[in-house]
Amino acid sequence: MLSGVESELTIRVADELLMFLPAARRDRVSRVPCDGTSTLGHLVESLGVPLPEVGRMTVAGAPADPSVRPEPGADVRVEAVPRPQPVPLEPGLAAPRFVLDVHLGTLARRMRLLGLDTAYRNDMDDPALVVQANEERRVLLTQDRGLLRRRALWFGAYVRGSRPDDQLRDVLGRFAPALRPWTRCTACNGDLVAVDKREIEDDLEAGTRRSYDAYGRCTDCGQLYWRGAHGGHLERIVEEAARLVESVRGNGRAPGPAAGHSGGSWSTSTWS
Ligand SMILES: [Zn+2]
Repeated sequence: MLSGVESELTIRVADELLMFLPAARRDRVSRVPCDGTSTLGHLVESLGVPLPEVGRMTVAGAPADPSVRPEPGADVRVEAVPRPQPVPLEPGLAAPRFVLDVHLGTLARRMRLLGLDTAYRNDMDDPALVVQANEERRVLLTQDRGLLRRRALWFGAYVRGSRPDDQLRDVLGRFAPALRPWTRCTACNGDLVAVDKREIEDDLEAGTRRSYDAYGRCTDCGQLYWRGAHGGHLERIVEEAARLVESVRGNGRAPGPAAGHSGGSWSTSTWS
């Protein structure tokens, strides 16, 4: 029969993961009961850390995967996922695809503004989100830790920050995805295609018709966009995002000029 320290093991958690521990136990070193039958993944999750947030793990200095069953007395170290974190891409894709939970609507629109393929609906329950993430190979973004503990989920990520600006920076810093700003409908995630002004003249308000000549339309919902100046707010989001992705991809080197979006920006009555 084991007793005292011999029935425990020591888990050291990286600073970036301490936020997942209960406030009263937010120490780098945790002692947890261990009888040699629990898996490493289960032990780490029992601390409160969702496995999709966990990077490299070691037991007694040797790399270990979540299915390992550490012996009592072992010294376990848990790192956070690397940044940028690689995502397996479907053939032909330049960037991961995403699905966001119901609380992340503003983040979804900003990701679409940057051209990221971002599924979002405000009426999806948890099982439906997991099904869509798995079937369409989308990274599930959420602030619901319970959702990230679902065994069936192929790839999930916790979104840090309560403001959409911070959330966007967190997602871009984590995945450093290739951006294609102004190519996607922010309302529905459809692709935008150029459309001849003569085809849509009747749908335009007079002021818009007089002022703009280049138009795009969402291939899914039909929303019209026109090329031209609009609030500098969106331009700033796009430029900051491009700089951030470039600096993460450059591994911390000083950021260069923002990647250009040669197509220029689109306006619409529904940008927000
Ligand atoms: Zn649309």
